[in-house]
Amino acid sequence: MELYEKTIHEVAGELKAKKISSVELTKQVMDHLEKVEPHVQSFITITRDQALAQAAEADKRLAAGKDVTALTGIPLAIKDLLCTKGVRTTCASRMLETFVPPYNATVVEKLYAAGAVAVGKTNMDEFAMGSSTETSFYKKTKNPWNLNCVPGGSSGGSASSVSADQAFASLGSDTGGSIRQPAALCGIVGLKPTYGRVSRYGLIAFASSLDQIGPMTKDVEDCAIMMNAISGHDPKDSTSANVPSPDHLTDLKKGVKGLRIGIPKEFFPDAMNEEVSVAVKDAIAKLSGLGAELVEISLPTAPYGLAAYYVLAPSEASSNLARYDGVRYGLRVPGENIVEMYSKTRAAGFGPEVKRRIMLGTYALSSGYYDAYYLKAQKVRRLIKEDYDKAFEKVDIIATPTAPNPAFRFGEKTDDPLTMYLEDIFTISINIAGVPALSLPCGLAGGLPVGLQLIGKPFDEATLLKAAWAYEQSTEWHKRKPSLRKD
Ligand code: GLN
Repeated sequence: MELYEKTIHEVAGELKAKKISSVELTKQVMDHLEKVEPHVQSFITITRDQALAQAAEADKRLAAGKDVTALTGIPLAIKDLLCTKGVRTTCASRMLETFVPPYNATVVEKLYAAGAVAVGKTNMDEFAMGSSTETSFYKKTKNPWNLNCVPGGSSGGSASSVSADQAFASLGSDTGGSIRQPAALCGIVGLKPTYGRVSRYGLIAFASSLDQIGPMTKDVEDCAIMMNAISGHDPKDSTSANVPSPDHLTDLKKGVKGLRIGIPKEFFPDAMNEEVSVAVKDAIAKLSGLGAELVEISLPTAPYGLAAYYVLAPSEASSNLARYDGVRYGLRVPGENIVEMYSKTRAAGFGPEVKRRIMLGTYALSSGYYDAYYLKAQKVRRLIKEDYDKAFEKVDIIATPTAPNPAFRFGEKTDDPLTMYLEDIFTISINIAGVPALSLPCGLAGGLPVGLQLIGKPFDEATLLKAAWAYEQSTEWHKRKPSLRKD
């Protein structure tokens, strides 16, 4: 096995034992990254020089045995909507093609403080709007399991880079499923933390009441390691929760005996892909075999989440994206007067999906329609949250599929935005409720990965990780590697 194929917890031991230096490890990862990049296209920007400089710093820490963490010297990838000081941050948009942030996002700062090495900025849907990474202005990222298929989205490059061993782990963001769905489609682990668990400072905003940053990793233990590094209160983000963050490794290996797992009937519709349904049901049976207690539950308003989300998220986006006006950041297309300059800049800088969202959101917020759309969606949001609260009186976690289908082909869903939006049917209500959820590999459908989604109580990521680890250890799914084949 090559070093770059290993997990963080495996390779961290070799770094600490000085079997290899971080510079050697980083060179091996970068060489592999560059070799497979023409096939998968995970990155918008590759930062080889910075990575090698950070690796040299990490080696000093390792040599001195001081300030060594589980991430010291480990190469990671970062979604291109997290601000990185001195490194271009585009949000996969033409609008920010030349934007170089003057500061680091808090999560990036935390990874650097832990001694991590950043290999580059990953491709994504433009402004994180999409489920296939096809709306990127720059390139189409391929699914390492079948290069004719999408990696999912919007964190498609973050998922493909980990799946193809171009980085040991990555950071993604999840507004309606953008960590979990690409993790499921690329056969890796992805966790959307509780809203407020991880600082959003320096995350380029899409829908601020739903956005969360989280880890995408090769296995569950690595996910716990990444959570330890990035979670916690941040005074720079007013929505960051001031609650203590536990050590996510403490209870990781304690098993699921007696754990009550809710199975919501609304998440197993008849119309679902048969192989996905079978794989997820088998995984749930396995958890029961490991000593968990299965409880049938109902989340009756969850199916309305999709409709509510596609009012709420575009409304927030229309407000957040008003700042791209040709004056303050990125692209400027000159015009005869200021209104024409705004209009020309926004026409040229945004792609069709982003424009669609801005128009939907502006409409939903306009006087005359506000009550009918935005206010109503907010009321549905409350009902969905109450459904989850009620369910968690009876169960500790909830198990569902992550996505209704395995990876689909390029272009298959781009002509009809609604079929693309339906990809998020199982992930969206979780962002609306603000609770945490993770996806982990649980089988194959047509040779492509399937994800099991585990949903938790607010701020109880530790229980999710514990259940996920128990399941993972009883299977071999997480050890399967993609072949970068084309069919
Ligand atoms: N696919 C959803 C959307 O297009 C979710 C995206 C996300 O989580 N960032 O809005």
